[in-house]
Amino acid sequence: MNKTILILGGGWGGLTAAHALRGMLASEYRIAVIEKRQSFVFYPSFIRAIIGEKTDLNYIESPLKKLLRKDIEVINEEVIRINPETRTVYTNSQTIPCDFIIIAMGAELYPDIIPGFNGFCLNLYDTQGAFEIHQKLKNFTKGKIAFLIARTPFRCPPAPYEAALLTESFMRKKGVRQDVEISIYTPEKQPMPVAGQQIGEAFNQILKAHNINYYPEHSVTKIEGDSNKMLFANNTETNYDLLVGVPPHGAPKSIADSALTDSTGYIPVHPQTMQIIDKADELTTRYPGVFAIGDVAAIRLLNGALLPKGGVFAEEQAHVVARNIVSQIKGEKTSDAFNGKGICYVDVGDDMAAEGSGDFYAYPAPHVNLEMPSKESRKAKHEFERIFELWFKK
Ligand SMILES: Cc1cc2nc3c(=O)[nH]c(=O)nc-3n(C[C@H](O)[C@H](O)[C@H](O)COP(=O)(O)OP(=O)(O)OC[C@H]3O[C@@H](n4cnc5c(N)ncnc54)[C@H](O)[C@@H]3O)c2cc1C
Repeated sequence: MNKTILILGGGWGGLTAAHALRGMLASEYRIAVIEKRQSFVFYPSFIRAIIGEKTDLNYIESPLKKLLRKDIEVINEEVIRINPETRTVYTNSQTIPCDFIIIAMGAELYPDIIPGFNGFCLNLYDTQGAFEIHQKLKNFTKGKIAFLIARTPFRCPPAPYEAALLTESFMRKKGVRQDVEISIYTPEKQPMPVAGQQIGEAFNQILKAHNINYYPEHSVTKIEGDSNKMLFANNTETNYDLLVGVPPHGAPKSIADSALTDSTGYIPVHPQTMQIIDKADELTTRYPGVFAIGDVAAIRLLNGALLPKGGVFAEEQAHVVARNIVSQIKGEKTSDAFNGKGICYVDVGDDMAAEGSGDFYAYPAPHVNLEMPSKESRKAKHEFERIFELWFKK
């Protein structure tokens, strides 16, 4: 019997799921991606764009109509509501019942939450913002550059730190580093808190070695752009000449409107199967056939922290869910499990990156290892971009 599988969101996780499913199921099975944007956006390129390494928009975004696999149906509409009980998806123009739903709608950016963010803070987490930051950095010769993390959690915990380190290296190459102060302000207690104290200390050392000031436990309340000032919840304030920020994140509105979130603000899922669960401490599901993967999903780790929002996790979860859906369709008994492991490459400037590998399901806390920075790791990081060649026509 033919089945319809709807994938909500055509980002890193959603398109991985679509390709994995299409590779395993014959054409009579309908696999449709519902995506509100015209293009796939690959966020890791943003931090390379800010230092002018990515001037070509084609390595940041690719129109979905250029997908090589024409047997993946793309519905260019916005998901408005999901009924997980009846497995029905409502878009801005139609209602689609289906057999399986994979929610891969990522995290949304909510800059409006911080007064002054819009208008006075350059957004590190969007394409236009990344290009604007590069224009400013190119002409910046003197003064203070502040990197701001507005709220947690946010996508890719190392990214703003990498952006600061790449900027530091960029200013050094320009010969103006001695006249440029670089500072990071964040509500976090340490860099990448989920990775543990040791990784935080290693990161602090890297920042110190690059003469980057670090202000943890600084939660911004307001940006007064007319006087180039930021105010924080701890009653301190600071001035800047150039402000680059990561806006607050949250689940897309339609997810909250569908009552799918819990106290984390995201969709609680089973840590191995990615099925939506009722309560984080009771790993039971009310909605068989409905999954959430990637940044929109919340997985509570054994130390109480949430699994970080990373593309490598979205990708692996997509494969696990795809294999399990296919097993179910074919009536096989086998099932696959996401294991909480992942590798990332952290840019530290000077064409180097440090490989970080983590087992986030380790007990009693995630086990993360950070290698010494190397040029090989930076090259390995560029391999991610191969998805453009794999998925899209040039
Ligand atoms: C600067 C930066 C650097 C990063 N570097 C790395 C890295 O080196 N390694 C790594 O592993 N991760 C990295 N990440 C994180 C990674 O990009 C994300 O974790 C990943 O994109 C999550 O995939 P996703 O499919 O869950 O969400 P997304 O890729 O955000 O895709 C979600 C999609 O859903 C769509 N959508 C949302 N709402 C709706 C709706 N209502 N209707 C229809 N469509 C909708 C969105 O338009 C979007 O296309 C980085 C992120 C940033 C910002």
